[in-house]
This record gives sequence, structure tokens and C-alpha cells, in this order.
Amino acid sequence: MSTGKPLLEINHLHTAFRIKDNYYDAVDDVSLTLEKNEILAIVGESGSGKSTLATTIVGLHNKANTQITGEVLYQDLNLIDLNETLYNRIRGNDIGMIFQDPLSALNPLMTIFDQIEEALIYHTKMSQEERKNRVLELLDQVGIPNPDRVARQYPHQLSGGMRQRVVIAIALSCKPPIIIADEPTTALDVTIQAQILDLLNQLQDETGAGIILITHDLGVVAETADRVAVMYAGEIVEMASAVELFTNPKHPYTRSLLKSMPQSDELEGESEELHVIQGTVPSLKNLPRKGCRFAARIPWIPAEAHEANPTLHQVAPDHFVRCTCHEHFHFEGEAE
Ligand code: ADP
Ligand code: MG
Repeated sequence: MSTGKPLLEINHLHTAFRIKDNYYDAVDDVSLTLEKNEILAIVGESGSGKSTLATTIVGLHNKANTQITGEVLYQDLNLIDLNETLYNRIRGNDIGMIFQDPLSALNPLMTIFDQIEEALIYHTKMSQEERKNRVLELLDQVGIPNPDRVARQYPHQLSGGMRQRVVIAIALSCKPPIIIADEPTTALDVTIQAQILDLLNQLQDETGAGIILITHDLGVVAETADRVAVMYAGEIVEMASAVELFTNPKHPYTRSLLKSMPQSDELEGESEELHVIQGTVPSLKNLPRKGCRFAARIPWIPAEAHEANPTLHQVAPDHFVRCTCHEHFHFEGEAE
């Protein structure tokens, strides 16, 4: 544990989207910290609010249809109060971003060189010569063979894996202390995924950046994360060190996610889905706003097992779980 201030501290963050005349929280009272040199994974099914959390941190929401309250503290700033001009200084320079689809993150009409150089022009006082060297150094650092040649190419001339490396190079270009990666490997095949994760790990060793790694894949988490926050329906339902979460998962949702992970010692296709809890995250308008949001997905657990207003409870030094239902939880058809 570090003794100083965390790199990023989020307190009671709410991000609500307007649907017709009402606002609905897609991120609902989220609090967490990110330390230097740490990979914090955020996991949860599609629709649980992970991307909204990421885009709120980097200020990518339109104030006309979004309400944001709470604190995203970075240095002495609450980022949610910043105007666009100030946010532009933070993005790229202090917080690097890597999103799921590298093609949409890149400009199809600009060479790779120009796109990486753009951030350096905007955020640094480097000379042209220094920028050139830095671009080639970055391409090399993210494992792109033949940087000279690739620098002159356009995004469509590269494979998906290479494009994602370019996006990572752009995110790293100004050596930001914080990196937010939202499903950075989802669009890539398994081998490339592993390479990209290795790369993030290795780059972090070198730069000491704090990384928020968003994924719905617990295999990715097991391989990379130091700490994990599990999100369901806009809320953090469990947060723990990665080791603790994998050895001692508590929340029914976490336990279901873990059960659904393919085991390497399990025969493929055999009994894999037996314990997965059925259902999906309800849509934003239809989220339960009272009681345990996961209750509807575990109807065989009696109502009394849930808290009326579930809060996060500390169950071990670095382990927090929402609601009391985990104390009485068992998978359907299994004894308690
Ligand atoms: P995740 O990244 O975990 O899949 P998201 O943050 O993308 O989840 O979405 C969380 C919820 O917010 C979903 O119900 C989604 O439909 C809704 N949502 C996301 N963006 C918007 C938006 N701009 N306007 C309205 N609803 C949105
Ligand atoms: Mg998402």
C-alpha cells in the first residue's frame, strides 16, 4: 500500500443519462482509488456501466443530456468541474486512453507518424527532430517491427493488432501517469490479445503508470490485474485484490462470473455453463432502484437475505462486498 495520496480518487460518482424527461444513473455512487504502478481491473457484463465510468473520468460526456455529480480527484482538481479547454490539457498528457476499437480511434486520412506526432505537438515543446525520434521510439516500444515503414502508412494498411499497438503508442506518447484502457483486446484474436496484455504490463513496469483496465473477461484480469472492482448495474458490487477475489469471491455475481470462466483442467464443452446465473443486466430505464440490484437474478435466495439498502461491507483488509446476500448464497439446485 502506498502512503501518499492516490493517483486518482473517485468519490460518490454518479453519471446519469437523460432518457425522455428523466435522468437515470448508469454509474451509481461509485468510489474507488487508483495507485501509482497499479493495474485496477473493472469487470462486469455489457451494460454494467464500465465505459460510462471511463468516459466520465476523461470528460467525454455532453452536458446537455448527462448529469455528473461527485468527485474525480486528480492532483488538486476535481475533473468533473473542468471546462473543455482544461480537459484537453489533461487528456493525453495526464490520462492516456485506449479504447476497444482501434480503427475508430484512428484517423483514416492521417499517416501513423502524423497521428502520434499530433499529441506531441499539442502537449510538449519538443523540436521536430525530437518528435520524430520519439515517434519512432514509441513504435519500437510497442513492438511494431520496422517503425520507419509503419510510420509512413495509414491505419487501413495495418492489421487489427498493429493498429491497437499504434493506439497504445499514442496513449503513451506523453508518458501519462494514468492510462485508461476500455476493452483494449476485445476486438483482437486470442494470440494478439495476450501480446497486447504483455505489452501493457511491460510498459507499466517501465513507466509506473496507474492503469484502469476495463474488461468483461476474467481471464484477462487473472493475468494482469493487481486489484479488481466488479460492477453490476452501475454499482460496484465487490472490490478486492486480484488474489483475494479469485481465491475468496463473495458476491453472487462475482461467483457466477468466476464459475463461467473456462477452466483449463476442464474438458471443453463439458458442464461449463452449469453454474452460470441466467439473465442479463437490465436496461438503464429498468434498473431496480431499491434493494439489491442482483436479487432478481437469484430469485431462489429468500428476500430476507438481502439488505434493504445494500452498502459495501469490508470482509477482509482489502476486500469489500455489497449486500448481505452473499452470506446466504448458493447456486440454484445446490445446498447452502
Ligand atoms: P458497459 O461498458 O459496462 O457495457 P456502458 O457504460 O456502455 O456499459 O452502459 C451502461 C448503461 O448506460 C447501459 O444501459 C447503456 O445502454 C446506457 N448508456 C450508455 N451510454 C448512454 C448514452 N449516451 N445515453 C443513454 N444511455 C446510455
Ligand atoms: Mg463498454
